[in-house]
Amino acid sequence: MAVDQQPEAAKRPIISMVGVAKAYGGAVALENLDLTVFAGEFFTLLGPSGSGKTTTLRLIAGFERPDSGQILLDGTDLAALPPFERPVNTVFQDYALFPHLTLIENVAYGLRARKMPKREAHALAQAALEQVRLGQFGTRKPAQLSGGQRQRVALARAMVNQPRVLLLDEPLGALDLKLRHQMQEELKRLQHESGITFIYVTHDQDEALSMSDRIAVFSQGRIEQVGTPFDLYERPNSAFVADFVGSSNLIGSAHDRLLRPEKIKLLPVPAALPDGHEGQTGVLHQATYLGALTRYIVRLADGTEVQAMEANILPLTDRLRLLPGDRVLAVWPRLAITPVQISTAANIDNQGEVE
Ligand code: ADP
Ligand code: MG
Repeated sequence: MAVDQQPEAAKRPIISMVGVAKAYGGAVALENLDLTVFAGEFFTLLGPSGSGKTTTLRLIAGFERPDSGQILLDGTDLAALPPFERPVNTVFQDYALFPHLTLIENVAYGLRARKMPKREAHALAQAALEQVRLGQFGTRKPAQLSGGQRQRVALARAMVNQPRVLLLDEPLGALDLKLRHQMQEELKRLQHESGITFIYVTHDQDEALSMSDRIAVFSQGRIEQVGTPFDLYERPNSAFVADFVGSSNLIGSAHDRLLRPEKIKLLPVPAALPDGHEGQTGVLHQATYLGALTRYIVRLADGTEVQAMEANILPLTDRLRLLPGDRVLAVWPRLAITPVQISTAANIDNQGEVE
């Protein structure tokens, strides 16, 4: 059961950050951050490069100290605990496996360092490798694995410690798209089966939407909004979130009414406005066939340019339904409009930037 479907009472905070600030020299990385992550959640920090996501993870892991504020795990202040005494583990993009050790030895390394007898450590490491479906590869060396398999070893190495919270910093960033998608499902499964709280960092909105119970959207060292994928996509509270999570049209004289491209329907004129809809006439400026979808750019009568997405559900002839230059009536359900707060231009500028 997804966390957002649990009754409120069942949600127990595992990580609470209260008024946390962090600057490097004079540069502010995090500004007065408040964040609560519930036990058992798949929680994602989403935002452009430089927005403070990694800093947040490093503060929880104890690799950095906050300038002010508190970080609690299960209600206990972590300030006095050095990184190795915190019940958390981190998985990075570069897996940093020991090349001269077998997979079993790599995964058992932390347990052995804490003086666990070899037989016991290897049994736990074997179980962790089985969890990531590498049970039969225990005697291999990392060089004999693919990139995706190496990342799974890194996961096993983190999970074998049974951390209360697993921190993942863009762990799939080095993988190609197909492998990324496979690993996304694998990570979801692992999180679900283990019940470990995951705090996952990504700048990829599709990844965030498809994997997370809840997402915090970061911008310039601040959290813009926290919510379920549904909340963020359907009810973003700012133009920045609307634009960073999905693509958006901002319409109306103040450009403060969000209209998602797939909610717009284009009718050849003359056409009547359907019940419960509003709309405007316009001229089709661009039509791009994308396979499953066709993307249209329409110049509305009031001068606004909007993007409309249409699923190609009907068998198409070799001609698109509408072509540039066609006059259309663009319509959308009145309920499809979400009012949003306009962010600063600086915020909108850096959307889509990647590391
Ligand atoms: P993200 O992970 O979202 O890309 P970071 O948390 O890494 O962002 O960085 C937030 C801000 O802090 C950025 O402006 C970055 O340049 C700065 N920063 C991060 N780490 C350091 C550091 N060790 N020294 C100086 N500035 C840093
Ligand atoms: Mg980062």
